Amino acid sequence: MKVIVLGAGLLGVTSAWFLRELGHEVEVIDRQAACAAETSFANGGQVSVSHAEPWANPGAPLKLLKWLGREDAPLLFRLRADARQWAWGLQFLRECTPARTRHNIRQIVQLGTYSRQVLRALRQELGLHYDQRTQGILHFYTSEREFEAAHAPAAQMRELGCDRRVLSAAEAVAIEPALRGAQHQLAGATYTPEDESGDAQRFVTELARQGAARGVGFRLSHQVTALHAAGGRLDHVEVIDPQGRYQRLQADAVVVALGAFSPALLQPLGIRLPIYPAKGYSVTMPVRDPGRAHQVSLTDDEYKLVFSRLGDRLRIAGTAELNGFERQLNRVRCQAIVRRVEELFPGAGDLERAQFWSGLRPATPSNVPLIGGTALPNLFLNTGHGTLGWTHACGSGRSIARIVSGLAPEVDFAFTGAASRRPGHAAGPRRPAAAPISGA
Ligand SMILES: Cc1cc2nc3c(=O)[nH]c(=O)nc-3n(C[C@H](O)[C@H](O)[C@H](O)COP(=O)(O)OP(=O)(O)OC[C@H]3O[C@@H](n4cnc5c(N)ncnc54)[C@H](O)[C@@H]3O)c2cc1C
Repeated sequence: MKVIVLGAGLLGVTSAWFLRELGHEVEVIDRQAACAAETSFANGGQVSVSHAEPWANPGAPLKLLKWLGREDAPLLFRLRADARQWAWGLQFLRECTPARTRHNIRQIVQLGTYSRQVLRALRQELGLHYDQRTQGILHFYTSEREFEAAHAPAAQMRELGCDRRVLSAAEAVAIEPALRGAQHQLAGATYTPEDESGDAQRFVTELARQGAARGVGFRLSHQVTALHAAGGRLDHVEVIDPQGRYQRLQADAVVVALGAFSPALLQPLGIRLPIYPAKGYSVTMPVRDPGRAHQVSLTDDEYKLVFSRLGDRLRIAGTAELNGFERQLNRVRCQAIVRRVEELFPGAGDLERAQFWSGLRPATPSNVPLIGGTALPNLFLNTGHGTLGWTHACGSGRSIARIVSGLAPEVDFAFTGAASRRPGHAAGPRRPAAAPISGA
């Protein structure tokens, strides 16, 4: 089959790789001149199966109210006259019940565990290098209450096979000695030894290079302007090439992996995706004092920041702002990250050479991505990965390649469309009513 993949971020390039592996003729289209130039460019670097507690959880509504209007809040809703933002917000609230949270954690852990296995196998098979570290992820808490509240989700994750251990402050410092200066602030931590970290942009670039060597085509600097259906199928993709000319591209199947921009292109087909951009920031700086710099990937619960060591660089990322598609750097939010880094690891990084970045997470209200079929039999989704697109990339890419090929996915997950109804398929429940994909 000829398959077109729209988007050359983490999800598009992994989809293309596995589609090619299954013998298809594959072409990837992206408006940027390079792969991983948008949200997959400078993320937090964590491959974190343990980061499975969704933003929508029973404690979220109260926290969100407390944070409303606070410029440096970890998760900030900037209320706009935007019907899509309000609809997303209402769906988010519906996902905050204990039952929905448990259901969503299950989806996220199952896909994450599978994805980490697929990543490892791929890394070994292809000899990939992307500043990866396999020292686990340490999630630390500075509030006793939040630490207590973390016990139940950690226990649920252990039941699902994710070895998320509960540690004392002293045990946390033994795992990451760079935290010793902050030990007095720590209430405790959880540690997941199997989790990893690495530079997602380097990974995508290297996978795309090896994919191209095996025949994957890349049509970069091409803007997708519309998807056209005819006769109950997707008929063609309309693009503008770098010279400004319109082209019509046809294929047997099309996979949409356009991140936060996926809904706009699907809406005219009557397919409504519950994805809203959640802007986040990262800071990348060279290590200045290796003795003070962290090695293990960390999550700071209170500030909702993640810290990864990418070779001789420190990457710190986090915060989420629901404010449409603008990507302007907000100084207050950037400075809030820098202040926290200096508080925890004073002198570790070279602040004068810090590079700031922002990206738009394609967030669903449940944090569960949209992978699978739609109402059009040759149109597929691999999008809506929100905070965990790097963690879920390889498993999602392999799963969508199997679904497009008519094969059963290898993981128990709520795929969209017909995949979960296919006989012999191991998948769990269909997409929940609270996160509808109208028309899909
Ligand atoms: C601050 C921050 C920190 C994060 N940290 C982590 C982390 O530690 N671990 C983790 O697992 N995840 C993390 N994430 C999430 C992860 O980065 C995303 O989920 C992931 O990058 C999404 O990948 P994607 O391929 O769906 O989207 P993208 O990377 O945005 O790819 C979509 C592609 O579509 C292209 N495109 C869009 N519209 C068009 C069009 N009309 N025509 C042509 N091309 C188009 C874009 O150019 C882009 O290349 C983080 C995200 C942010 C913002």
